Amino acid sequence: MSKPPLALSSPMSSLAGIRAPDVKRLEKLGIFTAYDLLLFLPHALDAFGAVGGISGLTPGQPGAMVGVVVSAQARRTPRQGMRLTEAVVEDADGGALKAVWFNQPHLARRFPAGTRLALAGVVAASRFASGLEMRNPRWEVLAATSLMGRASPDFPGHIGSVMPRYRLTAGLTQRKVAALVEQVLPLADQMSETLPPAVRQRRGLISIGDAIRLGHRPSSELDFEMARRRVLFAELFELQVAFLVARRTLAAEEATPIPYRQDVIDAFKLGLKFELTNAQRRAIWQVFLDIQEAVPANRLLNGDVGSGKTVVAAAAMAMAHAAGLQSVMMAPTEILARQHLSSLRMSLEGTFPDLKVDLLVGGLPAAERRRVAMATASGHSAVVVGTHALIEDSIEFARLGLAVVDEQHRFGTRQREMLRRKGHGRPHFMAMTATPIPRSMVLAMYGEMAVSILDEMPAGRKRIATRVLGPEERSQAYQVVREQVAMGRQAFVICPLIEESDTVEFRAATVEYERLRTEVFPDLRLALVHGRVKDKERVMRDFSLGNSDILVATAVVEVGVDIPNASVMMIEGAERFGLAQLHQFRGRVGRGSHPSYCLLLSDEPDSADLDRLQFMVDIDDGFKLAEKDLELRGAGQLIGARQHGVTDSAMEALRNPALLNEARQEAEAVLDGDRLPQALLEAVDRRLAATSIS
Ligand code: ADP
Ligand code: MG
Repeated sequence: MSKPPLALSSPMSSLAGIRAPDVKRLEKLGIFTAYDLLLFLPHALDAFGAVGGISGLTPGQPGAMVGVVVSAQARRTPRQGMRLTEAVVEDADGGALKAVWFNQPHLARRFPAGTRLALAGVVAASRFASGLEMRNPRWEVLAATSLMGRASPDFPGHIGSVMPRYRLTAGLTQRKVAALVEQVLPLADQMSETLPPAVRQRRGLISIGDAIRLGHRPSSELDFEMARRRVLFAELFELQVAFLVARRTLAAEEATPIPYRQDVIDAFKLGLKFELTNAQRRAIWQVFLDIQEAVPANRLLNGDVGSGKTVVAAAAMAMAHAAGLQSVMMAPTEILARQHLSSLRMSLEGTFPDLKVDLLVGGLPAAERRRVAMATASGHSAVVVGTHALIEDSIEFARLGLAVVDEQHRFGTRQREMLRRKGHGRPHFMAMTATPIPRSMVLAMYGEMAVSILDEMPAGRKRIATRVLGPEERSQAYQVVREQVAMGRQAFVICPLIEESDTVEFRAATVEYERLRTEVFPDLRLALVHGRVKDKERVMRDFSLGNSDILVATAVVEVGVDIPNASVMMIEGAERFGLAQLHQFRGRVGRGSHPSYCLLLSDEPDSADLDRLQFMVDIDDGFKLAEKDLELRGAGQLIGARQHGVTDSAMEALRNPALLNEARQEAEAVLDGDRLPQALLEAVDRRLAATSIS
């Protein structure tokens, strides 16, 4: 039976020769359809130069060669159990080179002795006889011949000269991606043009079809640059148009103004047990200016863990209350909601006697839930804090004027939207996020929102002593854990990030937990939480109540809770995490008055990993660490980057202020001008669906 012909909307599974694990891997890269794959341009070109003999290769340099396989074997490394394929290849002049591939044992069978093979890669010095080696080279099998009939300089079809390099995820190879791209490339001409002709002309941009073809199959750097520029420009442009449309849509809506009252803010400040930081003052002021307007505010409050975002929201809630309006705050977990409840009660209820803060979460006893639902509907509750339970149909507000979402990336667009619909008219809206996003990126990613940044920590915060430890220093880390537990403190152990699947990840975490429980800390109380644990909240609550000493967790579990008694954050396989993410983990300790420790364990530290982890030791500021991440690992690694459906390449392009500026200017020009291409309208709709307003 033949498959139906491919279309732009065909899912990856309909491609020839693709296996289910690869479909999953592509999904991780944001590729679901043929269309997505076409837009997945290589992010760089590797220049290998002309294909030649081994004598032409230089250690440390990229190169390409053709030779005959003398031997090829798969084996396991004794220590780390990694699977290696090693092939010895000879060229026509008797030169020899060793090629090594990691974790692709099937290659040994693909390369029987006598196979003519073209290889391209970076040449390394080696202990092997000829002194030359290539690791994970690109390869192409040429027409087979016997070992006796030495390699002829037949020209390989793909290897050599300039070769596209795609961004990969564990388990994918350049070769596999290139082969899949090959299948969809004929569809390039069916892609519709989102750029108005005038824009293309003004900016000197090639057509989408040409860009896709040249981008995947460049014959020169220039081709590649033209293609990339065109595709990235279009993506930024669509995003900017979407932001502008969102802003204009919102500006046409009505909200109830919340007038500024000096007496309210004075009382609020007096009621706090601390002085506001300058950053908090500035953010509060910006929020006050927003909410005085008759159009709905739409502000993102971006501040590191512990920078004190809650109090900014509380100030706005006090003002809303003074204007006779209710406020709501939605948090992703019950524990977080309960923490907000207590801090909002502390900062609001004491100061404003008629201001009642209530909690609405899934686990409330029926009578209490009824009481809160009624108090919300009658307006008796001025502030309601809760989880998803807030957006249930049965929950109504008398006069909701301000909606706040904490850890906004944990909610979908629909959930945020449902919360806002609880208002009569549109409530003013504030989102909070503890994901430090570099300044340059915030504007580009959240272009539909106004942004306040809390870039200053409350005074008196202690530094968290951070150390990087190699595998042979693990016992030192255990020692720190032991000492801290002996002093009555608690510790987190984060298991390594495993890309393959959560099944593998949770198994590995379970094994590690058992090992720690039985071999390392048999005398201590350990708990385990991972993605498959049904009642994560209960485990976390137990830990926060001090019912266990050590919480072993997988990376997928966000431990975004305030546990002042926890003083050690130990992270296994730290090199697999981004700096921003490590910083998030680190922010889970040092919340009480105790000296705290962050221990970064690295299994396979090569020097680049160590250098990168060293930044954690030297830098406390989450924004600076996020900048470093951006520099070292690229924008695609930033948390929340995918929220707007922005590709990794576009995220990179967002760092190019000139291109972004051009896209912005053009977006404004076309919106003020006349007809927009149908394809652009559709693209904008898709992007709007991914932003918080639609
Ligand atoms: P986050 O930004 O992580 O949500 P929180 O709002 O939870 O931070 O604040 C963290 C802690 O810091 C809370 O205990 C809060 O009371 C305290 N805090 C907030 N602002 C200040 C300040 N200006 N000075 C001292 N402590 C503060
Ligand atoms: Mg918070």
